[in-house]
Amino acid sequence: MTDSTPPRVLTVAGSDSGGGAGIQADLKTMLALGVHGMSVIAAVTAQNSLGVQGYWELPAEAVRAQLDSVLGDIGAQAVKTGMLASPVLVETVAGLLAGLDVPVVVDPVGVSKHGDSLLAPEAVETMRSRLLPVATVVTPNLWEVLQLTGVKVEDESDLRRAADAVLELGPAWALVKGGHLPGAPVDLLTDGRREFRFTAERHDNRHTHGTGCTLASAIASHLALGEDVPGAVEKAKAYVTGAIAHGFALGSGIGPVDHAW
Ligand code: PLP
Repeated sequence: MTDSTPPRVLTVAGSDSGGGAGIQADLKTMLALGVHGMSVIAAVTAQNSLGVQGYWELPAEAVRAQLDSVLGDIGAQAVKTGMLASPVLVETVAGLLAGLDVPVVVDPVGVSKHGDSLLAPEAVETMRSRLLPVATVVTPNLWEVLQLTGVKVEDESDLRRAADAVLELGPAWALVKGGHLPGAPVDLLTDGRREFRFTAERHDNRHTHGTGCTLASAIASHLALGEDVPGAVEKAKAYVTGAIAHGFALGSGIGPVDHAW
């Protein structure tokens, strides 16, 4: 390996044929942040700016083979997981990541912004019991917090209670994304002892497709670059805020955040 070899970051997630979210957002984020991005595809979506028209998960054997190929040769300094679609894929990926000694950022993808389900309902329990315990950081939005813990966040004062409920499922850190609450967006990060609140300006831009994937990938990238968890989240938030500010119209629906501004 030469000095010019960048840190390597692996995403295990779904493909978005429209190029705005999923694996495509992950790889763009990794390129922008100066790490080498690698992709294990768990599911393929037929998707555009109007929503997800359909998805197909890969056989567990194909996901396992991709992971073995990448980790057996290239290795990774950080891993991010996104859409895993089914209980068997959540279980397979969790089992393979459990033996790795690198940070794992879990974006517990449940539904898209359009309301399309990207996870079988019966996979939620597998995510709770198998995947969250191997996570270094888990990044649920408010809907995913409700799905995983039953805690309903009504306002900012509920964020810590929600994060503590997520921590009970076993991740080292929980980042609860409060962006859907009214007012200035606030995200809360905690490991149970330390607490950080990240606020950002709200951009009046509806073209935000891919925000969650981008944030989780940016956290994984900054962890691979040597930041600790609070530092990686702070830098990732700055990246995502810029990408949202530059989100652009595409098709006739919701356009993607921009990685090339
Ligand atoms: N498609 C894929 C493959 C995803 O992984 C995700 C989110 O994680 C989405 C679509 C949804 O993206 P958004 O909710 O930003 O529209």
